[in-house]
Amino acid sequence: ASLDALAAPAPATHRVQDRTQPVAEGLADGFRNAPDSDPSLPANQAWAAGIRERAQHSRLGVDLVAESTLHDAAQLEQTIETAVAANAAWRVLSGDERAEILHRAGRELEARRADLMEVAAAEAGKTLDQSDPEVSEAIDFAHYYAERARGLDRVDGAVAVPSRLIAVTPPWNFPIAIPAGSTLAALASGASVIIKPARVAARSGAVMVEALWAAGVPRDVLQLVQLGERSLGDRLIGDPRVDRVILTGGFETAQAFRRIRPDLQLLAETSGKNAIIVTPSADYDLAAKDIVASAFGHAGQKCSAASLAILVGQAGRSRRLHNQIVDGVRSLTVGQPWDATTQMGPIIAPAEGKLLEGLTTLGEGEQWVIEPERLDEEGRLWSPGVRAGVRPGSEYHRTEYFGPILGIMRVETLEEAIALVNEVDYGLTSGLHSLDPAEIGTWLERVEAGNLYVNRGITGAIVQRQPFGGWKRSVVGPTTKAGGPSYLMPLVDWRPSQARE
Ligand code: GLU
Repeated sequence: ASLDALAAPAPATHRVQDRTQPVAEGLADGFRNAPDSDPSLPANQAWAAGIRERAQHSRLGVDLVAESTLHDAAQLEQTIETAVAANAAWRVLSGDERAEILHRAGRELEARRADLMEVAAAEAGKTLDQSDPEVSEAIDFAHYYAERARGLDRVDGAVAVPSRLIAVTPPWNFPIAIPAGSTLAALASGASVIIKPARVAARSGAVMVEALWAAGVPRDVLQLVQLGERSLGDRLIGDPRVDRVILTGGFETAQAFRRIRPDLQLLAETSGKNAIIVTPSADYDLAAKDIVASAFGHAGQKCSAASLAILVGQAGRSRRLHNQIVDGVRSLTVGQPWDATTQMGPIIAPAEGKLLEGLTTLGEGEQWVIEPERLDEEGRLWSPGVRAGVRPGSEYHRTEYFGPILGIMRVETLEEAIALVNEVDYGLTSGLHSLDPAEIGTWLERVEAGNLYVNRGITGAIVQRQPFGGWKRSVVGPTTKAGGPSYLMPLVDWRPSQARE
């Protein structure tokens, strides 16, 4: 495991003062992360108010899959055929030529920042403080993969042979950055793309794709589909003309894809059950803040979210931290993303199944410190929940819930805490709050997760700074990291070049 962030404070390079003005380019001297908006400035507050107002209105139309039509079997067949045929002209472009188009895509995404934030609020319930950095991440993917495309043609003497067609199946929880990142990577590698956004985030996917088309990605090379029947998804995954599939979703979905097509080249980032460990040496104020943000940002609907806080040390000492976490959670304002006061928005669909169970039932020995309450008729708005007394090996310890619940565990030593983290089947993100270098060293060496964060929250990986990807059941296929230097490598085949005489 490598360290992704050590005591990194707010990651933004700088914040844009006035979103109503064009943003300076900033790429002449190499890759730089796109800045988020500064919400404290009046110009940006007016800008944000406009987005919220439009989101509230467009929420009404969310159930109509507007920009993309539902494809039937014949249309899907046509789409695949067109995308494969169009690849002949795309794959022969040089890395530099593709890079130019991707840089333009980054600029088009920036130009549509407000539109993207609006649809993410309307469809996925994202508050603007969550969707603003998500748009920045999408822009980062465009510029970052553009630069990676330049060097891809030939690596160590081997020649890259692009896929003809890559299918992209993103989730709804990051309805902008994940569809954009997967699509841009595939395009950068020389493949044609068929993207099937999650049904509940269809418009977000469509607005993102429009930006790429506007940037000059040919419509035949990048195709957007919504499938009328579930079986058509299986057909797309199973079609031999699809060389690779990029999936972000549940571990079970990745397994289902593999069953459909055992030889599938699948690149999947899957589930997580992530913990933040806090030792007695930590800055408790910072730890409490990072735990609350990582557990309840976007109502916990992130693969990277913190679902467990593991407090190390004697109960008397960690009691203070426990109380700080509880205070922080109680202070969260829950509401709709278009209300300016909302800090935690709704969940994507009325709670059911495992999530409903997690919000309403306790395991043996557990107690509610803060019991979640359903706040609306529909079952989408819940107040955040905190349970204590989570036992090792219990259902709560090992299950991903993907909602606004945090469990607290207590142990005597850091070693016990690490063992609890490693006992989980998944290994996506993991956090440690400690000011003791020896503890940090031990944890870095032993903890089993893809992204490791010290003295920072565990969500919101930044392109290039914290390439994002998992370990164990959090990844299916090659262990690659999105937003990292080698992400494009497994998207192509490698042909060794002829040795010179
Ligand atoms: N990359 C996101 C983060 O670092 C998580 C993506 C996901 O939920 O799949 O928070």
